[in-house]
Amino acid sequence: MRKKVIAGNWKMNYDLNQSIAFITHLKEEVIKKERNCNIIICPNYVALSEAKKIIKDSPVKLGAQNIYFEDSGAFTGETSADMIKSAGCEYVILGHSERRTIFKESDELINKKIKQALKHDLKPIFCVGETLEERENNITTEVVKKQFEIGLGEISAEQMTNIIIAYEPVWAIGTGKNATPEQAQEVHAYIRNLLTFEYGFQIAENTIIQYGGSVKPENAKDLLSQPDIDGALVGGACLKVESFIGIIESC
Ligand code: PEP
Repeated sequence: MRKKVIAGNWKMNYDLNQSIAFITHLKEEVIKKERNCNIIICPNYVALSEAKKIIKDSPVKLGAQNIYFEDSGAFTGETSADMIKSAGCEYVILGHSERRTIFKESDELINKKIKQALKHDLKPIFCVGETLEERENNITTEVVKKQFEIGLGEISAEQMTNIIIAYEPVWAIGTGKNATPEQAQEVHAYIRNLLTFEYGFQIAENTIIQYGGSVKPENAKDLLSQPDIDGALVGGACLKVESFIGIIESC
């Protein structure tokens, strides 16, 4: 039985003081009762080490929003796997559509980053998903398959046990227009089939496949009740403690 995973992608929001206040409040709410899901927050780099101190002794885990694929060196502005690890991260979001589109990250680059994360004992949250145009052209599965195959190129079955996949249709991210539970379930089942084909039944059964794209307390329960939807990667609605907790409570 897969335990659901709710992760918050803060994107480029909240300075250090705002982050400290937010995480302190979130932790107070989270620890009020036992939670049925695993909870991850992914704040900005500047807040990571303070975040780690605040979430200590709570079930909240820490992730970053990106890494570079080299260990160290002359890569101005980049942050390494070891750096985020030393700040307390266990997870890192890779392949997010904003990285793919705004920062032109290719499937090949994302694959290098996934390998680098795993090499440093970080668990990637690997995002895949189609644009509106691709969905309207009925090539959703082709697009997801290519992202899956190249992004996870040369990843072993053992390594796969440390990867979360997030299906995030690009047209649903930050638009307020979520995929219907049926639309999402269809792609999640397809991804689980890809996992079965590549890695076998057991790995496929155990892999967490999150849905991301305008998840909010109002739609979370319907989405999360689909058989292959194992959690949510949340953008906008993770920026308010009440709505993030509302999603956590839907599990
Ligand atoms: C995201 O950025 O991963 C995301 C899903 O954003 P939103 O929830 O705002 O659509």
